[in-house]
This record gives sequence, structure tokens and C-alpha cells, in this order.
Amino acid sequence: MTSQSCEMCLMPFKKDNGKRESELYCSYCFKEGELVYKEDDIKQFQQYCCQSMIKNGTNQYLAKFYTLFIPFAPHWRKLKKIKPLKSKE
Ligand SMILES: [Zn+2]
Repeated sequence: MTSQSCEMCLMPFKKDNGKRESELYCSYCFKEGELVYKEDDIKQFQQYCCQSMIKNGTNQYLAKFYTLFIPFAPHWRKLKKIKPLKSKE
């Protein structure tokens, strides 16, 4: 079974207009062989996603709503398992 949406931002792949390089990530999150966003700050990533969606013409309330689900994306759940949030310096 392949996943139907990006493991990092949860965008459904059928909404992805770019050229996807990864099975797991959309064309925005994964570019030129690596993840675009490498930090482990979910809040910052949510903001980043929200802003890019608004730039792409998404209603700002809708964009905010979508980003609420980002912490549940497989990518972030994996991160949490590897290191507790407190260890961030
Ligand atoms: Zn993505």
C-alpha cells in the first residue's frame, strides 16, 4: 500500500501539481533529493505551510485548518518517537 498524501504536510498527492521525487513526500516538502524543511519545529513548519498555501490561493482560514493536522503526519510522529521535544536546545 502506498500512501495517498505527503508524510510531512499531509497534502493529498492528487493536489500536488509539482514533480514529485519521493514516494512519501510531496513536491514541496522534498526537492532535489532532500527534505526542504529539516528542522524539528512543528509550529514553524505549520506556519511555513500555512503561508505557502495562502500564497497558492488557499483561503487563510482553510489553510490554518489544514495545518492543524500536521502534528499527526507520520514524519512528525516518527520524530517524536526518536527524541522527546524537551531535548531541543
Ligand atoms: Zn508535503
